[in-house]
Amino acid sequence: MYPILTVGSVAFDSMKTPLGEASRVVGGAATYFSVAASFFTDVRLVAVVGDDFTEDQMRVFADRRIDLTGLQRVPGETFRWKGEYSCDFNTRETIYTHLNVFDAFQPVLPDSYRPTPFVFLANIHPALQSDVLTQVHQPQFVAADTMNYWIEGTPNDLRAVLGRVDALIINDEEARQLSGESNLVKAARTIQQMGPELLVIKRGEHGVLMTRDRGFFAVPALPLETVIDPTGAGDTFAGGFMGYLASAGEINDAVMTRAIIAGSALASFAVEDFGLERLLRLTPDALQDRFSEFKRLTHFEAL
Ligand code: AMP
Repeated sequence: MYPILTVGSVAFDSMKTPLGEASRVVGGAATYFSVAASFFTDVRLVAVVGDDFTEDQMRVFADRRIDLTGLQRVPGETFRWKGEYSCDFNTRETIYTHLNVFDAFQPVLPDSYRPTPFVFLANIHPALQSDVLTQVHQPQFVAADTMNYWIEGTPNDLRAVLGRVDALIINDEEARQLSGESNLVKAARTIQQMGPELLVIKRGEHGVLMTRDRGFFAVPALPLETVIDPTGAGDTFAGGFMGYLASAGEINDAVMTRAIIAGSALASFAVEDFGLERLLRLTPDALQDRFSEFKRLTHFEAL
């Protein structure tokens, strides 16, 4: 079992979905990732919050396998983001993104973080992703995420990161935007040429598509009756996927397919309530049950 280091946003999120709204709840890509990955392994978090982030809000990380030595608290306001979902939940409009303390953030890895073999560069400015990666000693497996904000706003910094990672975990819309290809297979091949050998494309309620070399592996999303808020589902998937890989300690096709199920199972919980609520209540037994549901959903006898 290996630990994972992650850098990304820790945020105050506001969201409006067809079923209601929430404002100023704790979120952020690295938060969802860390909580999800900590179900499987030890997580080392690199991020920054402002002095408006209270001890009480810090409790989302408490009693989990999340090391906060690399979480800086500085004067100023915490990163803020607001999103609004369409009536079928399938598209989301960003109402605002305020980087706040991330604008001047200069990550310095604690010495204890430097030898971490698994690294996940969660969604944040790609220059920060690169900066953190440079400080890790000979990582074995590095994956990254990004989003339209950075694909449009900082394409050169993003290209530099892509040249240094083993895997990219993004959603279908981002894959199309990054590659300029509308066909997902062509998009995957184009992105692989930018650096990442492994590409995991998250397709919301349609599941996940993974490709390494020329082959594909796909799983559906669990059909759910209750979807309340999809925010963070992608980061939660990445946390489950990477957490499982790091806990297995080796990377091969069998481990990767199980990691896809681990990520999908965790993401299926994340959408069942606003923000982090459902994940924070999740027990290992409930997670295990959902693994079994996925097995039933996807298993069939060969003809
Ligand atoms: P997801 O729903 O998986 O795309 O992730 C939503 C999370 O990403 C929210 O918790 C936001 O705080 C965070 N987020 C949104 N925009 C950005 C951005 N430009 N950089 C970093 N994190 C972001």
